[in-house]
Amino acid sequence: MDKIKVYNDLKKVCNNTLLDESMKKHTSFKTGGTADILVMPSDIEEVKNVLKYCKKNNIEYYVIGNGTNLLVKDGGIRGVVIKISYNMNKFEVRDDRIIADAGASIIALAQVAYKNGLSGLEFACGIPGSVGGAVRMNAGAFKGEMCNIVEKTTYLNNEGNIVQIDNKAHDFSYRDSIFGHNPYIILQSVFKLQKGNIEEIKEKMEYNTKIRKEKQPLGTYNAGSSFKRLEGYFPGKLIEDSGLKGYKIGDAEVSTVHANFIVNNGNATTKEILELYSYVQKVVFEKFNVMLEPENQILGQD
Ligand SMILES: Cc1cc2nc3c(=O)[nH]c(=O)nc-3n(C[C@H](O)[C@H](O)[C@H](O)COP(=O)(O)OP(=O)(O)OC[C@H]3O[C@@H](n4cnc5c(N)ncnc54)[C@H](O)[C@@H]3O)c2cc1C
Repeated sequence: MDKIKVYNDLKKVCNNTLLDESMKKHTSFKTGGTADILVMPSDIEEVKNVLKYCKKNNIEYYVIGNGTNLLVKDGGIRGVVIKISYNMNKFEVRDDRIIADAGASIIALAQVAYKNGLSGLEFACGIPGSVGGAVRMNAGAFKGEMCNIVEKTTYLNNEGNIVQIDNKAHDFSYRDSIFGHNPYIILQSVFKLQKGNIEEIKEKMEYNTKIRKEKQPLGTYNAGSSFKRLEGYFPGKLIEDSGLKGYKIGDAEVSTVHANFIVNNGNATTKEILELYSYVQKVVFEKFNVMLEPENQILGQD
């Protein structure tokens, strides 16, 4: 791929097009190499045109949101990264529903729901993802999950057609949905909430925030839980009981606050983080005969 040509062509269809962009700037782990091209569309038309261009020219593309569940390898990403985030973040409240662009912040949605006396998003008030990322991942916390509140999602399919699906067709499961198995680009979701008591909503959100502050390494570079919960096991407990809290490889460390958070102390590489994942998996397996599965999505090349 002639990246200068692709850059110049894509600039004509999407104003926010960047060349050789460091993925450190686009991931909460603050690691990863450069993407050949990164585009940040500001509306559906731009997303459609970028996809059309990539398809027509046989160029690989990858969709990301806020990069809060991502590990980008140190060799970076060949092709085009389509970042749907704060450039495409409109939402509106209509009665007991919120209609939100894929790039809208889940935290912002939880706040607007609360201010409008709408209950259902309290669980998500500390999840730093975008609507697209949260729907794709069926993000959840405090016994709440996206699958309980998503009514409809509109996406671009592989052929560039706009499709709308209802809740059932998302095929939601633990941290998964159809979007984990198909190259679809989420454009918008509708959340169906319930009218609730504004004080109770506030209390729940404050409680959830307090627990996060107490139990999670807030303020560090990480991508949330490193390993998926397993039937009957909490990864954090297995890792802690394996004596791995505080274990380091380079600047990557098993958090001393919560063992299921691997954190970048500043200058970690993705290689170090991935080595630490493997080491944790190995030690936990040897001790408990349980194979932990990473929750973070991995992109790019070594
Ligand atoms: C401090 C911290 C706390 C966290 N707490 C929680 C928590 O409590 N619960 C929880 O579930 N997660 C949590 N996470 C993880 C993360 O915030 C969620 O998984 C979030 O939903 C990811 O959204 P994102 O926009 O950052 O997606 P990204 O990390 O950018 O991408 C994640 C996946 O979604 C896909 N994707 C993103 N946007 C789109 C789109 N528009 N169309 C199609 N696919 C798309 C990507 O391809 C990728 O596969 C936490 C992360 C951090 C850093």
